[in-house]
Amino acid sequence: MKARFVMVGPPGAGKGTQAKVLTEKLNIANISTGAIFRSHIAEQTELGKLAASYIDNGNLVPDEVTDALVRDRLNQDDVEQGFLLDGYPRNLHQVEALDAILAERGEKLNAVIELSIPDEDIVGRLLYRAEVEDRADDTEEVIRHRIDVYHSATAPLTDVYRQRGILLTVDGTGQIDEVLDRLVRELKSFLNISDEEQ
Ligand code: AMP
Repeated sequence: MKARFVMVGPPGAGKGTQAKVLTEKLNIANISTGAIFRSHIAEQTELGKLAASYIDNGNLVPDEVTDALVRDRLNQDDVEQGFLLDGYPRNLHQVEALDAILAERGEKLNAVIELSIPDEDIVGRLLYRAEVEDRADDTEEVIRHRIDVYHSATAPLTDVYRQRGILLTVDGTGQIDEVLDRLVRELKSFLNISDEEQ
């Protein structure tokens, strides 16, 4: 099976960390829209300047910009082996845009992995990350806004994917290795993959 996964979850759930280790383990492309935006910001490209004006305030970058970026990225060669999208789609419009991009390729998602953590853990985790990673969008005020944006714009995605029967909710609490083990185990059973086939 060619892996075509999405990772969704509130800010601070550990999506980026788990996406990185999981994609390395499965040898598939790790596509993080947030990371792509951050590299444009670091290189001070036009896209970076535009994205920063949204990201720094905890708002979503406009759909047209983000959809076009993902469409381009999914056309690159390394995606041939499979992919995991981390942080996209992030609202219902993007769900449709992704459906359209994949439909053009005759493809569909296999699983949407929802990494869940209790709301009360989110702020603490993000403030800690702000110290270690120095992200401009990890101030307390912006964090609170990003959590609101998650609940209003992104959380409804899970209902859509649940109805399609492709939502896998994984408990994101605990140490990185612990969460990865849990995730891999639950993903395999969700996809009906035995250890021998791996
Ligand atoms: P992340 O690293 O996934 O937390 O993303 C950091 C920030 O990048 C978000 O708070 C948004 O401002 C922006 N961003 C990332 N992915 C998307 C997306 N799919 N749509 C719109 N904005 C996004």
